[in-house]
Amino acid sequence: MQLIDGNQIAQAIIAELKTEVSAINGRKPCIALVRVGDDAASISYVRKKEKTSQEIGITSRVILPPVTISQDEIFALIDQLNADLAVDGILVQSPLPKHIDEVAVFRRVSPEKDVDGFNTINLGKVAQEDPTGFVACTPAGIMEMLARSGVDLKGRHVVVLGRSLIVGKPVALLALQKKAGANGTVTICHSQTANLPAITRQADVLIAAIGRAEFVTADMVKPGAVVIDVGINRVPDATKKTGYRLTGDVAFQTVAPLCSQITPVPGGVGPMTVAMLMSNTVKAWRQSGKR
Ligand code: NDP
Repeated sequence: MQLIDGNQIAQAIIAELKTEVSAINGRKPCIALVRVGDDAASISYVRKKEKTSQEIGITSRVILPPVTISQDEIFALIDQLNADLAVDGILVQSPLPKHIDEVAVFRRVSPEKDVDGFNTINLGKVAQEDPTGFVACTPAGIMEMLARSGVDLKGRHVVVLGRSLIVGKPVALLALQKKAGANGTVTICHSQTANLPAITRQADVLIAAIGRAEFVTADMVKPGAVVIDVGINRVPDATKKTGYRLTGDVAFQTVAPLCSQITPVPGGVGPMTVAMLMSNTVKAWRQSGKR
């Protein structure tokens, strides 16, 4: 079994971006990071994105509206950032407070600056295989880590667990694309799928993105499969200082020995997501002349 080291692959991407950005004479790429309120996980995610931007040489602008911001006010903020020629990418950290329509906010971000890839136009571009679009960072990260680990999906059965708009659906579309590294035969499963283990056992490549701790057990995996574990779940653990441990959607201890390759949690898909956000920001900068 070979471990796919997401930290190492993400670091390689970050180093490549750093080389590209340091060679830019003039205005460097710039990302606006919008975090509403004080959700603990959001604080740490935005901090990590800010730190990684700094490491690469991307300018980051952190904007912290109060939790009481109204829908109209957040729209006005997005409009202002959309119009700002010095801003290449806009990231609105999820989750937003309950009184805000989050999907409407994602749609408000200009498609040319939508480095999170959640805008309708960019999701459509994934379906149309239009390379000018922005692919959502987690699915893009999964494809990149597969490519850099020598996994070619051509002709292989890819089973995706989960059909969310931010992971399951786009990663399934990417695996299906008619291009080198993709060309997979894709099955998408969800909470209403019957005989799930019978389907997952057919997977040459299994991508688990359901948010259920250690849901995928050894009896659900074909020997020799490649397993990508997207889940990030907090499980109570009194032995930890935090009171919890992080675990994926896959029962790693028992599944890993069966696999040809597998990603750990943490240290698998997570770091790739941030690296792809940075990659999308540099791409937005490259395409900024066309705005
Ligand atoms: P969502 O909750 O939006 O979607 C979960 C999907 O899993 C749904 O399609 C749901 O089905 C399906 N599902 C839930 N329970 C089952 C079940 N018992 N059997 C089969 N399918 C099931 O989650 P996300 O896609 O946003 O995230 C999934 C996981 O990935 C989470 O743990 C999240 O924390 C993690 N994540 C990690 C990221 C990273 O950077 N590593 C980034 C984003 C997410 P249905 O549609 O029928 O409800």
